[in-house]
Parts: sequence; C-alpha cells; structure tokens
Amino acid sequence: MIANYGYEDGSGFYYITIDGDLCAKCVEHSCVTACPQGVYAVEMDDYDDFVAVVKEVARKRLRELCSLCKGQNGGGGTERALPCTDACPAGALRHSW
Ligand code: SF4
Ligand code: SF4
Repeated sequence: MIANYGYEDGSGFYYITIDGDLCAKCVEHSCVTACPQGVYAVEMDDYDDFVAVVKEVARKRLRELCSLCKGQNGGGGTERALPCTDACPAGALRHSW
C-alpha cells in the first residue's frame, strides 16, 4: 500500500510517499537511523507487516525538517541524493519537492 505523509501550503507540496509493500520485505529499516531529524518510525500496519511511517509530529513540518538535507527550496523530487533515500535499499521512499 502506498502512504502519503505531508501537507501543502502557498509555497508548494511537501509529501513523503512510502511504498509499504516494499517496506514489508525490509529487515534493516535503515531509513530510521539515516535521517538526522528523526522523521521516520517503523510501525505495524493493518496487515501485520512492519513498515516505515513518517512520525505524526513531523508530518506538518517536513519542509522545515528536511531543509537540513535539501536546503530551503527542496531538492527537485528524487533527483538529489538524500540520507533517507540513499539508505533505503528498496527504493520505497519518494519526496515530492
Ligand atoms: S529502509 Fe526503505 S524499505 Fe526499509 S523500512 Fe525504510 S523505507 Fe521501508
Ligand atoms: S531529507 Fe533528510 S531530514 Fe528529510 S526525511 Fe530525508 S533524511 Fe530525514
């Protein structure tokens, strides 16, 4: 299942998309430790699989939190290497900005 976390405002769309089907096969969960802002957690989903989620407290602050990695104007979607996307062996993470 694809999950979208984030928000939009006058300045743009700030969403992280996580492919739970890919996460369900992951044993490392390396996104959690790779993110310097602690954006990710691993939780059990409705199918009893452990998948990555964006923490509730981070969902409305993604632009601010991720500016540490991307700068204020974002990284142009998935074009720029990020600690989280680099750490995910399955390619389960996408950023909209
Ligand atoms: S590293 Fe990738 S596949 Fe593994 S839990 Fe994190 S987002 Fe999911
Ligand atoms: S871009 Fe940086 S701060 Fe944002 S989720 Fe990825 S690793 Fe964490």
